[in-house]
Amino acid sequence: MQSQLDEIVATIRSEPATGEVASYIPELAHADPNLLAISAIDLSGKQFSAGDVEHSFTLQSVSKAFSLALALEIHGPLVFNKVGYEPTGNPFFSMLPLESEQGKPRNPFVNSGAIAVSGMIPGDTRQESYEKFLKFLTKLSDGQQFRLDEPTYTSESETGFRNRAMANFLKQYGWIEDVDLAVETYFMHCSTLINTDQLARLGLFLANRGVDPITGNRILDESSCRAIVTLMTTCGTYDYAGRVAIEIGLPCKSGVSGGILAIVPGKMSIAAFSPRLGTHGNSEAGMRMLQLLSEELELSIFQ
Ligand code: GLU
Repeated sequence: MQSQLDEIVATIRSEPATGEVASYIPELAHADPNLLAISAIDLSGKQFSAGDVEHSFTLQSVSKAFSLALALEIHGPLVFNKVGYEPTGNPFFSMLPLESEQGKPRNPFVNSGAIAVSGMIPGDTRQESYEKFLKFLTKLSDGQQFRLDEPTYTSESETGFRNRAMANFLKQYGWIEDVDLAVETYFMHCSTLINTDQLARLGLFLANRGVDPITGNRILDESSCRAIVTLMTTCGTYDYAGRVAIEIGLPCKSGVSGGILAIVPGKMSIAAFSPRLGTHGNSEAGMRMLQLLSEELELSIFQ
């Protein structure tokens, strides 16, 4: 595995880079476009990584998998009374389906859905609610500590007019209670710092039916875990999930800072990172690394 990851990173570094670093959140535009990292951890706890593994980036939309897990831990399937299960076919920031569906978000991985999910995490203040999210990440990683990247959070909060519009929309229809609390907590989830080793570790319970295979602790019940992994497959990579299913064949959740979490059910959790994004908002090199690994190890769940 180690030599495969090393080779994949070397191959990608030798190919011409494609894609652009996200700049609609001004702070993200400062990322070094050439960063490249991949980590994998299997169910026995063996961890392998290659590239710029020590580099931390913000979770962005990858956080949506973990905020959904936390909401499911707290509320169980009631979560799906407020967000649906279906792909939208539209970009993550789109407000289109909201209009015709009484404001109910189609799924937890579009921004409106993630804002609704963030609103389900209890807390009287954004700090209190965010603390619960950080504690959950610590539990998933068996004790690692995580923190907010203040400049990214400020940047998102100052420029997130569209997300705030969506939150107001959700409030109008009664899907959330407190607009500021839901949207600011969502921005904080997105602005949490992580590296690929940590991200792969956080996702490991999703590869093992909701149980952390290293500690033996149950994190989530099986059906909640299955819902997350299934939604990652159908809705986890924006309006590109069909191509990802064909080319990589793994449940993935991507984010606009260039991170991707990929789950190989029953086997391992993989995290890839590189900041240049394709037109659908997924890391170009990250997707390519996952594709090469999936092909070499025949990991596709659709074989
Ligand atoms: N914080 C970002 C936003 O709301 C997350 C988007 C993403 O990673 O897809 O626009």
